[in-house]
Amino acid sequence: METLKSFVGGKWHTATSGFRDLHDPSTEDIIARASSDGVDFAAAASHARTVGGPALRSLNFTERGAVLAKISKVLGEAREELIDLSMKNTGVTRRDAKFDLDGATGTLAYYGYKAKELGEDFYLRDGDGEALGRSARFWGQHVHVPLQGVAVLVGAYNFPAWGFAEKMACAFLAGVPVIVKPATSTAWVAARCAEIIVESGAAPEGTFSFVAGSTGDLLDHLGPQDVLAFTGSASTGLALRSHAGMLAQNVRVNVEADSLNAAVLAPDLDGSSDTMSLFYREIVREITQKTGQKCTAVRRIFVPEDRCDEVIEELRFRLGDVVPGDPRDEQTTMGPLCTSDQLVDTVEGVAALQKAGAELVLGTGARSDGAGATEGKGYFFAPHLLRAPSADAVSLVHEREVFGPVSTVIPYAGDASEVAEYVARGRGSLVTSIYSDDESWVGQALATAGAWNGRLYLASAKMAEQAVGSGLALPQSKHGGPGRAGGGEELGGIRGLSLYMNRVALQGSKTMIERLL
Ligand code: NAP
Repeated sequence: METLKSFVGGKWHTATSGFRDLHDPSTEDIIARASSDGVDFAAAASHARTVGGPALRSLNFTERGAVLAKISKVLGEAREELIDLSMKNTGVTRRDAKFDLDGATGTLAYYGYKAKELGEDFYLRDGDGEALGRSARFWGQHVHVPLQGVAVLVGAYNFPAWGFAEKMACAFLAGVPVIVKPATSTAWVAARCAEIIVESGAAPEGTFSFVAGSTGDLLDHLGPQDVLAFTGSASTGLALRSHAGMLAQNVRVNVEADSLNAAVLAPDLDGSSDTMSLFYREIVREITQKTGQKCTAVRRIFVPEDRCDEVIEELRFRLGDVVPGDPRDEQTTMGPLCTSDQLVDTVEGVAALQKAGAELVLGTGARSDGAGATEGKGYFFAPHLLRAPSADAVSLVHEREVFGPVSTVIPYAGDASEVAEYVARGRGSLVTSIYSDDESWVGQALATAGAWNGRLYLASAKMAEQAVGSGLALPQSKHGGPGRAGGGEELGGIRGLSLYMNRVALQGSKTMIERLL
């Protein structure tokens, strides 16, 4: 059995106790184990700060970008091996494994490329300067300067590669070393990525560390120049945010958490329009991709009430074709859930929605067997669709994130302002997609939907040909949402670097400031 290792203080560490098992979700077999027992976390953080930090900060943006490009390349070269590992440890289909891995290498490559725009500078200008005195001689300019600490990157179980790569890309380009800590249950892919990165020598000494297993007492050793970038459940996010030591030290914490994402079908679309076809295609993908274990997956589908029967019928038809099973079986089109806990949580979530008044219109509410898998084994759960009588009737549909292939159709009267208010009942989402070719209707939803979402995906006939789906967190656009979604912000092009930098206001002679920068 594989024992995952940590890489801290420039050395590999193999634990001898405190192991947690990793399973193959299709067979339930134990395939690996992980523990961080024995890691000296204070020394690990100090090594990153004192060796890795200066090494990265001595590079300009273009040079840091070259590091990212090299890491993207070496991970890309191991793509086939990582896909196989991902299928084994996370149960994803080959296509879904690629989604995670290509997301990781693509985001690293994007920031590697973006670095060229920043050239040979070391600091990032924040907007234009302004005169502070009677003339331009006394000048003010805001500048982002890299923090001199370490960024601890704690990831969720569903994206073992992309999860750390998107955070690391921004931290590295900003000039801050990282300690990567993926969720233990699916850590094998990230652990193999860590080996590849270390073996390649692409990351300068001390800039990249990896923890297999828990964070131990690491968070107790974080200080005011450090960053904790967390992705996971709202409850863990709250626990980390409330950590007394980090509160006392004002450690910068970014939380990416749960989200009741919505899709809105506007009343203007007829059944044969391009936008309507896009709606069906993308809703099916959002429910089934990564077996619904995507923070951006659509959980609530708002449909004009006179279209509900037709939409449900079509979705039932399309989702009926999905074959849950072992991703290594040829018939399989959707893998199992990643862990037994996730299966229990999903079954309970569907039952809770039914109890709260939603009608199950597709699925049995129970685990199913999977294609190519032993009867009774594997965390399989077929696509499920529910229907709520109204947005008011089932308040739980706006509160409980069922993290599996599950979504609920909710009727509304067809009014844009009304549906935007329903979207807002999710109390803060990562993304809402609006399917409409009627610009003025979308405009009426914008103010409220914009205030309660990190991203609005405006799907229309004009962009249908190039549409990538609302679930894809493109590095060019911000990822993160207000309220329940954690209140965090990541990515968004160069904006993503600011989490790892301090904004300082420079006040002085214009000539001196221009020369310094
Ligand atoms: P989780 O149970 O909250 O775990 C997330 C991470 O936190 C794991 O690495 C976990 O490590 C770590 N962790 C747990 N307790 C900790 C503690 N006391 N100190 C330090 N680290 C701790 O979440 P999950 O089940 O992996 O992920 C599913 C959730 O993530 C869903 O709710 C989903 O919505 C959310 N998610 C959000 C986004 C987003 O971008 N907004 C993206 C993906 C997922 P161990 O595994 O070792 O316990």
